[in-house]
Amino acid sequence: METLLRDLARGALDLLWPRTCFACGETLGGTREPWLCGRCRAAIPALSAGLASCARCAAFLGPEGAGGSCRDCARLRPRFEAVRAVGLYRGPLRRLLVSMKYARRPEGAWPLGELMAEAVRGWEGGGAVIVPFPTTEAARKRRGFDPPALLAAEVARRRGLPLAEGALRRTGSPPPQASLSRSERLRSPRGTVEAVRPEVLRDRTVLLVDDVLTTGASASEAAQVLLGAGAARVLVAVAARA
Ligand SMILES: [Zn+2]
Ligand SMILES: [Zn+2]
Repeated sequence: METLLRDLARGALDLLWPRTCFACGETLGGTREPWLCGRCRAAIPALSAGLASCARCAAFLGPEGAGGSCRDCARLRPRFEAVRAVGLYRGPLRRLLVSMKYARRPEGAWPLGELMAEAVRGWEGGGAVIVPFPTTEAARKRRGFDPPALLAAEVARRRGLPLAEGALRRTGSPPPQASLSRSERLRSPRGTVEAVRPEVLRDRTVLLVDDVLTTGASASEAAQVLLGAGAARVLVAVAARA
């Protein structure tokens, strides 16, 4: 009954204010499609299906690389334990991210957050806490919102996990040598990420949330800071893997 009423209400809203798919812009007719059309929803997992990926960083390895780590992970040994991504930074997933970040549609965090929450299923145990990858003040001002923070909030809400917003901060540029006295454990080697709330991280499994993972170098830097601040382990969740 409740579902029927909701469907009717949504149907009425659709007449007044037609909803469109976040990824392709097509008008959404069906009441069961809140944000993405059926075609885009189906295309997202299909893009990465059957591709072998690195056990550590989720980089796609090509047809011959099944079961192991990628060359970068073997060489750089990232400080996070694992990465989960909704899929490759292609097709509808890429269009979704582009529309959120560059066409400034913060509502894109709803469908992305839903897909990400699904991707991290099973990671919520062991007192996990969600931490958004910190963005620079300049980027936040330019965009008017903070994509990783919105995604982190959605994943936290849907997985029922606490959100430690502001646990990390971007310092913008490396600090001058003279000011390095503040606990170096809490800062990344390049000094661009800093743990400002170590008390919420201590002995916790941290689920670091970002929009796109490219090389994994920034995520590894943030993971190092989180571990230095007392986190037990760091897992990374992203919308897309470049
Ligand atoms: Zn679509
Ligand atoms: Zn890797």
